Amino acid sequence: MIAALPLAVDSLAVLPGILDLPLDRFRAWLGERGQPPMRVNQIRRQILANRAESFEAMSDLPKELRGELAASFAPFSTRVERHLAAADGTHKLVLRLADDRTIECVLIQDDGRATACISTQVGCGMGCVFCASGLNGVERNLTVGEMLEQLVRLRNLTATPGRLTHIVVMGMGEPLANLDALLATLAIAGDKNGLGIGARHVTISTVGLPAKMRELADSGKQYHLAVSLHAPNNSLRTRIVPTNDKTGIPAILAAADEFFEKTGRQVTYEYVVLGGLNDHLEHSRQLAGLLAGRKAHVNLIPWNDVEGLPYTRPHDDDLKRFIDTVRRAGVSVKVRKRKGAEIDAACGQLRRKVESEANHRGTETQSRKEE
Ligand code: SAH
Repeated sequence: MIAALPLAVDSLAVLPGILDLPLDRFRAWLGERGQPPMRVNQIRRQILANRAESFEAMSDLPKELRGELAASFAPFSTRVERHLAAADGTHKLVLRLADDRTIECVLIQDDGRATACISTQVGCGMGCVFCASGLNGVERNLTVGEMLEQLVRLRNLTATPGRLTHIVVMGMGEPLANLDALLATLAIAGDKNGLGIGARHVTISTVGLPAKMRELADSGKQYHLAVSLHAPNNSLRTRIVPTNDKTGIPAILAAADEFFEKTGRQVTYEYVVLGGLNDHLEHSRQLAGLLAGRKAHVNLIPWNDVEGLPYTRPHDDDLKRFIDTVRRAGVSVKVRKRKGAEIDAACGQLRRKVESEANHRGTETQSRKEE
């Protein structure tokens, strides 16, 4: 069952979002109004930790200050364009950004976990052939505030006890292409005055950018790294993941090995299973050969349909044989559970629908004008 939920009253922000305001400028702004610097944390904590969605709701602030804040800033720079909820507790949001672009993010709730899946870019520049996010390339990186707002908005939808337990950076975009802003976001998310989600509960998924994987390892944080491998040899991987042409599998595995050595955290290899394309017996043997002896885990993701793309999900028998071959080689392997399928939870799909509806409406208006 799909429920399209009524949207909270929430107008498009024309004022700058408070979460993107540099802290020194925020302190200066407060100073000009005779307010102490500690208000910065107090106000941010209200949004990040206390679920305030307006300045008016910040009852621990002087009334006049609340009014001044509301006249100069918006608590959120994004607005909820679409909110879908599935019967299994999955929520999907399409957020409209201040520059009118859209992104999406997902809340997945099961086994006492509440996981936020967030986007890091508008669109994606990696061009993986099976993925909806990259069909129109990348438009821009998201700001720290825009990434935090995804987390806050999803957290505000959680059932009791009302906190996020995990973050997966697996929405739209290539996280390591926006690494500085992502690390700043995750640092705030990990803070006890923020969302209190520790690094070990955060998974960052990458197409495999070796230099950036090293930079992430050097950040000294215990994030979990997932590498989108999707094929066990270079010629097939380059067909499926075009950036492989410049990188190549060996360089990615070497960077992943270094990540493991530096952080002690086992790397997950993601493998989208495309029926008849990368699920042959030979592919599973090659994959097992690549990963046997490495401390690695494989996550198989049967392809989620994307309208207009010519791929199929694997047959059950082929998938089972693939798993058995990899497992027999001593490599740990699992098939990713499918959540929220009925609400287009695969990367970039709902956003495409919303955008194409908007374009359609645009065309209708246009043709009416021409009549
Ligand atoms: N740019 C990052 C994050 C992508 S989304 C990366 O490449 O890892 C997280 C995972 O979902 C990636 O492994 C991605 O390849 C995969 N994915 C994207 N579209 C998919 C689809 N339609 N079906 C199944 N998996 C998909």
